Amino acid sequence: MGTLNINHELDDPIFNAINPLDPEEFRRQGHKIVNFLADYYQNIEQYPVCSQVNPGYLQKIVPNSAPNNPESLEKILKDVERDIIPGLTHWQSPNFFAYFPSSGSTAGFLGEMLSVGFNVVGFNWISSPAATELESIVMDWFGKLLNLPNCFLFASGGGGVLQGTTCEAMLCTIVAARDQMLRKISRENFGKLVVYASDQTHFSLKKAAHIAGIDPGNFRVIPTTKASEYTLCPKSLRLAILNDLKEGNVPLFLCATIGTTSTTSVDPLRSLCEIAKEFGIWVHVDAAYAGSACICPEFQVFLDGVENANSFSLNAHKWFFSTLDCCCLWVKDPSALTNALSINPECLRNKATELNQVIDYKDWQIALSRRFRALKLWLVLRSYGVINLRNLIRSHVNMAKHFEGLIAMDKRFEIFVPRKFAMVCFRISPLVLRQVSTKFDDEKEVNMFNTRLVESINSCGKLYLTHGVVGGTYIIRFAIGASLTHYRHVDIAWKVIQDHANALLNQGYV
Ligand SMILES: *Cc1c(COP(=O)(O)O)cnc(C)c1O
Repeated sequence: MGTLNINHELDDPIFNAINPLDPEEFRRQGHKIVNFLADYYQNIEQYPVCSQVNPGYLQKIVPNSAPNNPESLEKILKDVERDIIPGLTHWQSPNFFAYFPSSGSTAGFLGEMLSVGFNVVGFNWISSPAATELESIVMDWFGKLLNLPNCFLFASGGGGVLQGTTCEAMLCTIVAARDQMLRKISRENFGKLVVYASDQTHFSLKKAAHIAGIDPGNFRVIPTTKASEYTLCPKSLRLAILNDLKEGNVPLFLCATIGTTSTTSVDPLRSLCEIAKEFGIWVHVDAAYAGSACICPEFQVFLDGVENANSFSLNAHKWFFSTLDCCCLWVKDPSALTNALSINPECLRNKATELNQVIDYKDWQIALSRRFRALKLWLVLRSYGVINLRNLIRSHVNMAKHFEGLIAMDKRFEIFVPRKFAMVCFRISPLVLRQVSTKFDDEKEVNMFNTRLVESINSCGKLYLTHGVVGGTYIIRFAIGASLTHYRHVDIAWKVIQDHANALLNQGYV
Protein backbone atom coordinates (compact mmCIF):
# COMPACT_ATOMS: atom_id res chain seq x y z
CA MET A 1 0.00 0.00 0.00
CA GLY A 2 1.64 3.24 -1.11
CA THR A 3 0.32 6.73 -0.43
CA LEU A 4 -1.57 8.44 -3.18
CA ASN A 5 0.95 10.13 -5.42
CA ILE A 6 -0.21 13.63 -6.36
CA ASN A 7 2.15 14.93 -8.99
CA HIS A 8 1.60 18.64 -9.60
CA GLU A 9 4.00 18.60 -12.50
CA LEU A 10 1.36 16.70 -14.39
CA ASP A 11 -0.90 19.78 -14.31
CA ASP A 12 -1.68 21.04 -17.76
CA PRO A 13 0.98 23.68 -18.59
CA ILE A 14 -1.57 25.70 -20.53
CA PHE A 15 -3.77 25.91 -17.49
CA ASN A 16 -0.81 27.00 -15.39
CA ALA A 17 -0.07 29.82 -17.82
CA ILE A 18 -3.50 31.33 -17.46
CA ASN A 19 -5.54 31.07 -14.31
CA PRO A 20 -8.69 33.11 -14.85
CA LEU A 21 -9.16 33.60 -11.11
CA ASP A 22 -5.66 34.13 -9.85
CA PRO A 23 -6.06 36.02 -6.56
CA GLU A 24 -3.02 38.29 -7.07
CA GLU A 25 -4.04 39.26 -10.60
CA PHE A 26 -7.57 39.81 -9.31
CA ARG A 27 -6.21 42.20 -6.69
CA ARG A 28 -4.01 44.09 -9.16
CA GLN A 29 -6.58 44.43 -11.92
CA GLY A 30 -9.48 45.00 -9.54
CA HIS A 31 -7.70 48.03 -8.04
CA LYS A 32 -7.11 49.35 -11.54
CA ILE A 33 -10.83 49.22 -12.35
CA VAL A 34 -11.79 50.92 -9.09
CA ASN A 35 -9.26 53.68 -9.81
CA PHE A 36 -10.53 53.98 -13.36
CA LEU A 37 -14.12 54.40 -12.16
CA ALA A 38 -13.11 56.88 -9.45
CA ASP A 39 -11.45 59.00 -12.16
CA TYR A 40 -14.56 58.62 -14.29
CA TYR A 41 -16.80 59.98 -11.53
CA GLN A 42 -14.31 62.77 -10.85
CA ASN A 43 -14.25 63.88 -14.49
CA ILE A 44 -17.78 62.98 -15.47
CA GLU A 45 -18.84 66.58 -16.13
CA GLN A 46 -16.42 66.89 -19.04
CA TYR A 47 -18.51 64.57 -21.25
CA PRO A 48 -21.70 65.50 -23.12
CA VAL A 49 -24.42 64.06 -20.85
CA CYS A 50 -26.36 62.39 -23.66
CA SER A 51 -24.10 60.47 -26.00
CA GLN A 52 -23.63 62.27 -29.31
CA VAL A 53 -22.50 59.28 -31.42
CA ASN A 54 -24.27 58.11 -34.58
CA PRO A 55 -25.84 54.64 -34.93
CA GLY A 56 -23.22 52.02 -35.81
CA TYR A 57 -20.30 54.17 -34.60
CA LEU A 58 -18.66 51.32 -32.70
CA GLN A 59 -18.63 48.77 -35.50
CA LYS A 60 -16.47 51.20 -37.47
CA ILE A 61 -13.72 51.44 -34.85
CA VAL A 62 -13.36 47.99 -33.30
CA PRO A 63 -11.84 44.90 -34.98
CA ASN A 64 -14.36 42.60 -36.61
CA SER A 65 -13.34 39.47 -34.72
CA ALA A 66 -12.17 38.51 -31.24
CA PRO A 67 -8.39 38.57 -30.63
CA ASN A 68 -6.49 35.32 -30.81
CA ASN A 69 -3.90 36.36 -28.26
CA PRO A 70 -4.50 37.89 -24.86
CA GLU A 71 -4.54 41.65 -24.43
CA SER A 72 -3.62 43.54 -21.29
CA LEU A 73 -6.14 45.27 -19.04
CA GLU A 74 -4.19 48.49 -19.57
CA LYS A 75 -4.77 48.31 -23.32
CA ILE A 76 -8.42 47.36 -22.89
CA LEU A 77 -9.02 50.29 -20.52
CA LYS A 78 -7.50 52.68 -23.05
CA ASP A 79 -10.07 51.43 -25.55
CA VAL A 80 -12.84 51.83 -23.00
CA GLU A 81 -11.80 55.44 -22.65
CA ARG A 82 -11.43 56.08 -26.36
CA ASP A 83 -14.24 53.96 -27.84
CA ILE A 84 -16.79 53.15 -25.16
CA ILE A 85 -17.11 56.31 -23.06
CA PRO A 86 -18.14 58.49 -26.04
CA GLY A 87 -20.96 56.03 -26.62
CA LEU A 88 -22.23 56.31 -23.05
CA THR A 89 -25.07 58.49 -21.86
CA HIS A 90 -23.84 59.48 -18.43
CA TRP A 91 -26.59 58.50 -16.03
CA GLN A 92 -24.34 59.34 -13.05
CA SER A 93 -23.63 62.85 -14.31
CA PRO A 94 -24.87 65.62 -11.99
CA ASN A 95 -26.41 67.14 -15.14
CA PHE A 96 -28.54 64.09 -15.88
CA PHE A 97 -32.21 65.02 -15.42
CA ALA A 98 -33.77 62.62 -17.93
CA TYR A 99 -36.21 59.69 -17.42
CA PHE A 100 -35.95 58.82 -13.73
CA PRO A 101 -32.59 58.78 -11.96
CA SER A 102 -30.46 55.68 -11.59
CA SER A 103 -28.95 56.86 -8.35
CA GLY A 104 -25.54 55.33 -7.84
CA SER A 105 -23.66 55.23 -4.56
CA THR A 106 -20.45 53.86 -3.16
CA ALA A 107 -22.36 51.52 -0.86
CA GLY A 108 -24.54 50.25 -3.71
CA PHE A 109 -21.49 49.72 -5.88
CA LEU A 110 -19.55 47.92 -3.17
CA GLY A 111 -22.56 45.71 -2.42
CA GLU A 112 -22.72 44.86 -6.09
CA MET A 113 -18.99 44.10 -6.02
CA LEU A 114 -19.40 41.72 -3.12
CA SER A 115 -22.31 40.05 -4.84
CA VAL A 116 -20.46 39.67 -8.13
CA GLY A 117 -17.28 38.66 -6.32
CA PHE A 118 -18.88 35.81 -4.40
CA ASN A 119 -20.74 34.91 -7.58
CA VAL A 120 -23.05 32.46 -5.86
CA VAL A 121 -26.20 31.19 -7.52
CA GLY A 122 -28.82 31.27 -4.82
CA PHE A 123 -31.85 29.62 -6.40
CA ASN A 124 -32.80 27.80 -3.22
CA TRP A 125 -31.80 28.09 0.42
CA ILE A 126 -29.13 25.37 0.43
CA SER A 127 -27.43 26.81 -2.64
CA SER A 128 -26.36 29.74 -0.44
CA PRO A 129 -28.25 30.11 2.83
CA ALA A 130 -26.94 33.63 3.51
CA ALA A 131 -28.28 34.90 0.16
CA THR A 132 -31.81 33.78 0.97
CA GLU A 133 -31.78 34.73 4.63
CA LEU A 134 -30.25 38.18 4.10
CA GLU A 135 -32.80 38.89 1.37
CA SER A 136 -35.73 38.12 3.67
CA ILE A 137 -34.18 40.20 6.44
CA VAL A 138 -33.49 43.30 4.33
CA MET A 139 -36.92 43.09 2.71
CA ASP A 140 -38.48 43.18 6.18
CA TRP A 141 -36.14 46.06 7.17
CA PHE A 142 -37.05 48.02 4.07
CA GLY A 143 -40.75 47.23 4.42
CA LYS A 144 -40.73 48.56 7.99
CA LEU A 145 -38.86 51.65 6.86
CA LEU A 146 -41.60 52.35 4.31
CA ASN A 147 -44.15 51.75 7.04
CA LEU A 148 -45.74 49.03 4.91
CA PRO A 149 -48.52 47.26 6.82
CA ASN A 150 -47.33 44.16 8.70
CA CYS A 151 -49.25 41.91 6.32
CA PHE A 152 -46.45 42.46 3.76
CA LEU A 153 -43.71 41.35 6.18
CA PHE A 154 -42.48 37.81 6.79
CA ALA A 155 -43.29 38.08 10.48
CA SER A 156 -46.98 38.32 9.58
CA GLY A 157 -47.23 35.82 6.76
CA GLY A 158 -46.34 38.11 3.85
CA GLY A 159 -42.89 38.73 2.49
CA GLY A 160 -40.54 40.37 0.03
CA VAL A 161 -38.29 39.29 -2.80
CA LEU A 162 -35.71 41.06 -4.95
CA GLN A 163 -36.42 40.91 -8.66
CA GLY A 164 -34.54 42.42 -11.55
CA THR A 165 -37.05 44.96 -12.77
CA THR A 166 -40.62 46.14 -12.26
CA CYS A 167 -41.60 44.45 -15.49
CA GLU A 168 -40.66 41.07 -14.01
CA ALA A 169 -42.42 41.87 -10.73
CA MET A 170 -45.59 42.74 -12.65
CA LEU A 171 -45.41 39.56 -14.68
CA CYS A 172 -44.97 37.41 -11.56
CA THR A 173 -47.91 39.05 -9.81
CA ILE A 174 -50.22 38.82 -12.84
CA VAL A 175 -49.34 35.13 -13.19
CA ALA A 176 -49.98 34.60 -9.45
CA ALA A 177 -53.36 36.34 -9.72
CA ARG A 178 -54.20 34.46 -12.91
CA ASP A 179 -53.51 31.02 -11.51
CA GLN A 180 -55.31 31.81 -8.27
CA MET A 181 -58.36 32.83 -10.30
CA LEU A 182 -58.15 29.84 -12.63
CA ARG A 183 -58.29 27.54 -9.63
CA LYS A 184 -61.66 29.11 -8.75
CA ILE A 185 -63.19 29.35 -12.21
CA SER A 186 -62.68 26.87 -15.01
CA ARG A 187 -59.66 27.13 -17.28
CA GLU A 188 -62.00 27.57 -20.22
CA ASN A 189 -62.57 31.11 -18.95
CA PHE A 190 -58.93 32.10 -19.41
CA GLY A 191 -59.91 34.30 -22.36
CA LYS A 192 -62.30 36.28 -20.16
CA LEU A 193 -59.72 37.52 -17.63
CA VAL A 194 -59.43 41.32 -17.58
CA VAL A 195 -56.54 43.55 -16.48
CA TYR A 196 -57.20 47.21 -15.55
CA ALA A 197 -54.84 50.14 -15.78
CA SER A 198 -54.97 53.85 -16.48
CA ASP A 199 -53.58 55.59 -19.54
CA GLN A 200 -50.70 56.67 -17.26
CA THR A 201 -49.78 53.16 -16.10
CA HIS A 202 -46.28 52.15 -17.18
CA PHE A 203 -46.25 50.31 -20.51
CA SER A 204 -44.46 47.38 -18.91
CA LEU A 205 -47.82 46.27 -17.48
CA LYS A 206 -49.14 45.78 -20.99
CA LYS A 207 -46.12 43.68 -21.86
CA ALA A 208 -46.53 41.63 -18.67
CA ALA A 209 -50.25 41.05 -19.36
CA HIS A 210 -49.41 40.01 -22.90
CA ILE A 211 -46.76 37.51 -21.77
CA ALA A 212 -49.18 36.17 -19.14
CA GLY A 213 -51.57 35.35 -21.97
CA ILE A 214 -54.25 37.94 -21.21
CA ASP A 215 -56.33 38.58 -24.32
CA PRO A 216 -55.15 41.95 -25.75
CA GLY A 217 -58.82 42.90 -26.06
CA ASN A 218 -59.15 42.51 -22.29
CA PHE A 219 -56.51 45.06 -21.33
CA ARG A 220 -58.62 47.99 -20.10
CA VAL A 221 -56.97 51.37 -20.24
CA ILE A 222 -58.99 53.89 -18.25
CA PRO A 223 -58.49 57.46 -19.48
CA THR A 224 -57.35 60.11 -17.00
CA THR A 225 -57.82 63.87 -17.14
CA LYS A 226 -55.73 66.93 -16.39
CA ALA A 227 -58.42 68.09 -13.93
CA SER A 228 -57.76 65.00 -11.78
CA GLU A 229 -53.99 65.38 -12.27
CA TYR A 230 -53.83 62.22 -14.36
CA THR A 231 -54.90 59.87 -11.57
CA LEU A 232 -57.05 56.79 -12.01
CA CYS A 233 -60.64 57.71 -11.18
CA PRO A 234 -62.33 55.15 -8.89
CA LYS A 235 -65.74 55.84 -10.46
CA SER A 236 -64.44 55.06 -13.94
CA LEU A 237 -62.83 51.88 -12.63
CA ARG A 238 -66.13 50.75 -11.13
CA LEU A 239 -67.97 51.46 -14.38
CA ALA A 240 -65.41 49.51 -16.38
CA ILE A 241 -65.68 46.56 -14.01
CA LEU A 242 -69.49 46.56 -14.08
CA ASN A 243 -69.40 46.70 -17.84
CA ASP A 244 -67.07 43.71 -17.97
CA LEU A 245 -69.27 41.72 -15.61
CA LYS A 246 -72.26 42.48 -17.83
CA GLU A 247 -70.32 41.12 -20.79
CA GLY A 248 -69.48 37.95 -18.89
CA ASN A 249 -65.82 38.82 -18.42
CA VAL A 250 -63.79 38.09 -15.29
CA PRO A 251 -62.09 41.10 -13.64
CA LEU A 252 -58.66 39.88 -12.54
CA PHE A 253 -56.00 42.47 -11.88
CA LEU A 254 -55.59 46.20 -11.28
CA CYS A 255 -52.32 48.09 -11.35
CA ALA A 256 -52.35 51.32 -9.32
CA THR A 257 -49.38 53.65 -9.51
CA ILE A 258 -47.67 55.78 -6.89
CA GLY A 259 -45.66 58.22 -9.01
CA THR A 260 -46.53 57.69 -12.67
CA THR A 261 -43.77 57.87 -15.22
CA SER A 262 -44.99 60.91 -17.16
CA THR A 263 -46.05 63.21 -14.33
CA THR A 264 -45.47 61.35 -10.99
CA SER A 265 -49.17 61.40 -10.22
CA VAL A 266 -50.47 59.26 -7.38
CA ASP A 267 -53.53 57.07 -7.82
CA PRO A 268 -56.05 57.14 -4.93
CA LEU A 269 -55.09 53.79 -3.42
CA ARG A 270 -57.69 53.55 -0.69
CA SER A 271 -60.74 53.96 -2.95
CA LEU A 272 -59.27 51.87 -5.75
CA CYS A 273 -58.42 49.01 -3.38
CA GLU A 274 -61.89 49.10 -1.84
CA ILE A 275 -63.51 48.67 -5.24
CA ALA A 276 -61.07 45.93 -6.19
CA LYS A 277 -61.77 44.11 -2.96
CA GLU A 278 -65.50 44.22 -3.60
CA PHE A 279 -64.95 42.39 -6.90
CA GLY A 280 -62.12 40.08 -5.81
CA ILE A 281 -59.52 41.78 -8.02
CA TRP A 282 -55.77 41.50 -7.28
CA VAL A 283 -54.24 44.96 -6.80
CA HIS A 284 -50.60 45.54 -7.57
CA VAL A 285 -49.13 48.89 -6.52
CA ASP A 286 -46.35 50.09 -8.81
CA ALA A 287 -44.22 52.60 -6.92
CA ALA A 288 -41.12 52.04 -9.06
CA TYR A 289 -39.81 55.58 -8.73
CA ALA A 290 -41.70 57.29 -5.91
CA GLY A 291 -41.79 54.36 -3.49
CA SER A 292 -38.33 55.30 -2.21
CA ALA A 293 -39.64 58.68 -1.01
CA CYS A 294 -41.94 56.81 1.37
CA ILE A 295 -39.04 56.17 3.75
CA CYS A 296 -39.78 59.78 4.79
CA PRO A 297 -42.85 59.95 7.02
CA GLU A 298 -44.15 63.02 5.15
CA PHE A 299 -44.61 60.91 2.00
CA GLN A 300 -46.20 57.87 3.65
CA VAL A 301 -49.66 59.40 3.27
CA PHE A 302 -49.46 58.29 -0.39
CA LEU A 303 -49.49 54.67 0.76
CA ASP A 304 -52.75 55.12 2.64
CA GLY A 305 -54.93 52.10 1.85
CA VAL A 306 -52.08 49.83 0.71
CA GLU A 307 -53.12 47.25 3.32
CA ASN A 308 -55.91 46.31 0.91
CA ALA A 309 -53.54 45.73 -2.02
CA ASN A 310 -52.05 42.33 -2.77
CA SER A 311 -48.59 43.34 -3.89
CA PHE A 312 -46.33 46.38 -3.88
CA SER A 313 -43.10 47.06 -5.74
CA LEU A 314 -40.44 49.74 -6.06
CA ASN A 315 -37.13 49.99 -7.88
CA ALA A 316 -34.28 50.50 -5.43
CA HIS A 317 -32.11 51.08 -8.50
CA LYS A 318 -34.05 54.23 -9.35
CA TRP A 319 -34.04 56.43 -6.28
CA PHE A 320 -32.55 54.27 -3.53
CA PHE A 321 -28.82 54.35 -4.29
CA SER A 322 -28.59 50.72 -5.41
CA THR A 323 -27.12 49.77 -8.75
CA LEU A 324 -29.29 48.26 -11.45
CA ASP A 325 -30.96 45.84 -11.02
CA CYS A 326 -32.84 45.84 -7.75
CA CYS A 327 -36.64 45.76 -7.83
CA CYS A 328 -38.22 45.15 -4.42
CA LEU A 329 -41.51 43.26 -4.47
CA TRP A 330 -43.64 42.57 -1.41
CA VAL A 331 -46.66 40.28 -1.41
CA LYS A 332 -49.28 39.63 1.21
CA ASP A 333 -49.71 35.99 0.27
CA PRO A 334 -46.48 34.39 -0.92
CA SER A 335 -48.30 31.12 -1.61
CA ALA A 336 -50.10 32.81 -4.52
CA LEU A 337 -46.68 33.40 -6.08
CA THR A 338 -45.18 30.03 -5.24
CA ASN A 339 -48.28 28.12 -6.38
CA ALA A 340 -47.83 29.71 -9.78
CA LEU A 341 -44.04 29.68 -10.07
CA SER A 342 -42.60 26.70 -8.22
CA ILE A 343 -40.94 23.78 -9.92
CA ASN A 344 -39.23 21.04 -7.94
CA PRO A 345 -36.95 18.92 -10.08
CA GLU A 346 -35.08 15.97 -8.60
CA CYS A 347 -31.67 17.63 -8.92
CA LEU A 348 -32.66 20.39 -6.48
CA ARG A 349 -34.10 18.08 -3.80
CA ASN A 350 -32.75 18.79 -0.32
CA LYS A 351 -33.75 18.28 3.27
CA ALA A 352 -34.38 21.91 4.23
CA THR A 353 -36.83 22.35 1.34
CA GLU A 354 -38.59 19.10 2.03
CA LEU A 355 -39.04 19.90 5.69
CA ASN A 356 -40.59 23.21 4.65
CA GLN A 357 -38.13 25.10 6.82
CA VAL A 358 -36.87 27.56 4.26
CA ILE A 359 -37.72 29.97 1.46
CA ASP A 360 -36.62 28.91 -2.00
CA TYR A 361 -36.66 32.19 -3.90
CA LYS A 362 -36.60 30.45 -7.28
CA ASP A 363 -40.34 29.94 -6.62
CA TRP A 364 -40.93 33.69 -6.30
CA GLN A 365 -39.59 34.72 -9.71
CA ILE A 366 -39.39 33.81 -13.39
CA ALA A 367 -35.83 32.50 -13.63
CA LEU A 368 -34.23 29.68 -11.68
CA SER A 369 -30.79 31.17 -11.10
CA ARG A 370 -30.55 34.36 -9.12
CA ARG A 371 -27.97 36.89 -7.95
CA PHE A 372 -27.20 37.80 -4.36
CA ARG A 373 -28.80 41.25 -4.70
CA ALA A 374 -29.60 41.64 -1.01
CA LEU A 375 -25.99 42.62 -0.31
CA LYS A 376 -26.55 45.88 -2.21
CA LEU A 377 -29.55 46.91 -0.16
CA TRP A 378 -27.89 45.77 3.06
CA LEU A 379 -24.83 47.90 2.36
CA VAL A 380 -26.92 50.92 1.34
CA LEU A 381 -29.11 50.70 4.45
CA ARG A 382 -26.17 50.16 6.81
CA SER A 383 -23.63 52.50 5.26
CA TYR A 384 -25.91 55.54 5.13
CA GLY A 385 -28.40 54.78 7.87
CA VAL A 386 -32.02 55.84 7.79
CA ILE A 387 -31.10 59.41 8.76
CA ASN A 388 -28.93 60.03 5.72
CA LEU A 389 -31.17 58.17 3.31
CA ARG A 390 -34.08 60.38 4.32
CA ASN A 391 -31.87 63.46 4.02
CA LEU A 392 -30.74 62.49 0.53
CA ILE A 393 -34.33 62.01 -0.68
CA ARG A 394 -35.34 65.30 0.93
CA SER A 395 -32.43 67.15 -0.64
CA HIS A 396 -33.56 66.00 -4.10
CA VAL A 397 -37.12 67.04 -3.32
CA ASN A 398 -35.89 70.44 -2.11
CA MET A 399 -33.81 70.95 -5.25
CA ALA A 400 -36.91 70.18 -7.32
CA LYS A 401 -38.86 72.74 -5.27
CA HIS A 402 -36.11 75.24 -5.98
CA PHE A 403 -36.26 74.48 -9.71
CA GLU A 404 -40.04 74.83 -9.64
CA GLY A 405 -39.55 78.25 -8.04
CA LEU A 406 -37.17 79.29 -10.82
CA ILE A 407 -39.71 78.31 -13.48
CA ALA A 408 -42.50 80.15 -11.69
CA MET A 409 -40.47 83.39 -11.91
CA ASP A 410 -40.21 83.21 -15.71
CA LYS A 411 -43.63 83.87 -17.19
CA ARG A 412 -42.67 82.37 -20.55
CA PHE A 413 -42.87 78.94 -18.95
CA GLU A 414 -45.72 77.09 -17.27
CA ILE A 415 -45.59 74.33 -14.69
CA PHE A 416 -47.82 71.68 -16.18
CA VAL A 417 -48.90 69.72 -13.09
CA PRO A 418 -48.09 70.39 -9.44
CA ARG A 419 -44.81 68.74 -8.36
CA LYS A 420 -45.13 65.84 -5.92
CA PHE A 421 -41.63 64.39 -5.58
CA ALA A 422 -38.36 65.43 -7.24
CA MET A 423 -39.61 65.73 -10.81
CA VAL A 424 -40.95 68.92 -12.38
CA CYS A 425 -43.13 68.94 -15.52
CA PHE A 426 -43.17 72.15 -17.50
CA ARG A 427 -43.26 73.64 -20.99
CA ILE A 428 -43.14 76.92 -22.83
CA SER A 429 -46.51 78.50 -22.19
CA PRO A 430 -48.89 78.33 -25.16
CA LEU A 431 -50.18 81.78 -24.17
CA VAL A 432 -46.74 83.26 -24.71
CA LEU A 433 -46.35 81.52 -28.06
CA ARG A 434 -49.79 82.70 -29.19
CA GLN A 435 -48.72 86.29 -28.60
CA VAL A 436 -45.92 85.67 -31.08
CA SER A 437 -47.91 83.93 -33.80
CA THR A 438 -51.46 82.74 -34.42
CA LYS A 439 -50.14 79.45 -35.73
CA PHE A 440 -49.77 78.43 -32.08
CA ASP A 441 -53.55 78.32 -31.79
CA ASP A 442 -52.88 74.81 -33.04
CA GLU A 443 -51.74 72.67 -30.06
CA LYS A 444 -49.61 70.60 -32.43
CA GLU A 445 -47.45 73.65 -33.13
CA VAL A 446 -47.07 74.26 -29.39
CA ASN A 447 -45.92 70.66 -29.00
CA MET A 448 -43.54 71.10 -31.91
CA PHE A 449 -41.98 74.15 -30.34
CA ASN A 450 -41.37 72.36 -27.05
CA THR A 451 -39.95 69.36 -28.92
CA ARG A 452 -37.49 71.67 -30.67
CA LEU A 453 -36.51 73.16 -27.33
CA VAL A 454 -35.71 69.75 -25.81
CA GLU A 455 -33.74 68.68 -28.88
CA SER A 456 -31.76 71.89 -28.87
CA ILE A 457 -30.92 71.57 -25.14
CA ASN A 458 -29.89 67.92 -25.37
CA SER A 459 -27.69 68.40 -28.40
CA CYS A 460 -25.55 70.97 -26.55
CA GLY A 461 -24.48 68.21 -24.15
CA LYS A 462 -24.54 70.36 -21.00
CA LEU A 463 -27.52 68.53 -19.57
CA TYR A 464 -29.94 65.82 -20.52
CA LEU A 465 -33.69 65.89 -20.03
CA THR A 466 -36.56 63.97 -21.61
CA HIS A 467 -40.21 64.52 -22.36
CA GLY A 468 -43.60 62.96 -21.86
CA VAL A 469 -46.88 63.26 -23.70
CA VAL A 470 -50.02 63.41 -21.58
CA GLY A 471 -53.49 63.94 -23.01
CA GLY A 472 -51.88 65.01 -26.29
CA THR A 473 -49.65 67.61 -24.64
CA TYR A 474 -45.89 67.45 -24.96
CA ILE A 475 -44.31 68.19 -21.58
CA ILE A 476 -40.70 68.58 -20.52
CA ARG A 477 -39.68 66.46 -17.53
CA PHE A 478 -36.90 67.55 -15.19
CA ALA A 479 -36.10 64.69 -12.82
CA ILE A 480 -33.61 65.34 -10.01
CA GLY A 481 -31.98 62.42 -8.25
CA ALA A 482 -28.53 61.74 -9.70
CA SER A 483 -26.36 61.36 -6.62
CA LEU A 484 -23.80 63.97 -7.74
CA THR A 485 -26.37 66.73 -8.42
CA HIS A 486 -26.17 69.91 -6.32
CA TYR A 487 -28.02 73.23 -6.40
CA ARG A 488 -25.41 74.73 -8.70
CA HIS A 489 -26.15 72.09 -11.33
CA VAL A 490 -29.85 72.86 -11.12
CA ASP A 491 -29.18 76.59 -11.45
CA ILE A 492 -26.88 76.12 -14.44
CA ALA A 493 -29.37 73.76 -16.06
CA TRP A 494 -32.10 76.35 -15.70
CA LYS A 495 -29.86 78.99 -17.28
CA VAL A 496 -29.13 76.66 -20.21
CA ILE A 497 -32.84 75.95 -20.66
CA GLN A 498 -33.60 79.69 -20.65
CA ASP A 499 -30.81 80.41 -23.15
CA HIS A 500 -32.10 77.80 -25.57
CA ALA A 501 -35.66 79.07 -25.16
CA ASN A 502 -34.44 82.63 -25.88
CA ALA A 503 -32.61 81.51 -28.98
CA LEU A 504 -35.63 79.62 -30.33
CA LEU A 505 -38.06 82.41 -29.51
CA ASN A 506 -35.82 84.94 -31.24
CA GLN A 507 -35.12 82.77 -34.27
CA GLY A 508 -37.27 82.94 -37.33
CA TYR A 509 -38.82 79.62 -36.24
CA VAL A 510 -41.78 81.34 -34.55
C1 LIG B 1 -39.38 52.89 -14.40
C2 LIG B 1 -40.77 52.46 -14.16
C3 LIG B 1 -41.19 51.17 -14.51
C4 LIG B 1 -40.32 50.21 -15.27
O1 LIG B 1 -39.34 49.71 -14.47
P1 LIG B 1 -38.39 48.53 -14.97
O2 LIG B 1 -37.66 48.17 -13.73
O3 LIG B 1 -37.51 49.11 -16.01
O4 LIG B 1 -39.24 47.43 -15.50
C5 LIG B 1 -42.48 50.80 -14.20
N1 LIG B 1 -43.32 51.65 -13.59
C6 LIG B 1 -42.96 52.90 -13.25
C7 LIG B 1 -43.95 53.80 -12.57
C8 LIG B 1 -41.68 53.34 -13.53
O5 LIG B 1 -41.33 54.59 -13.20
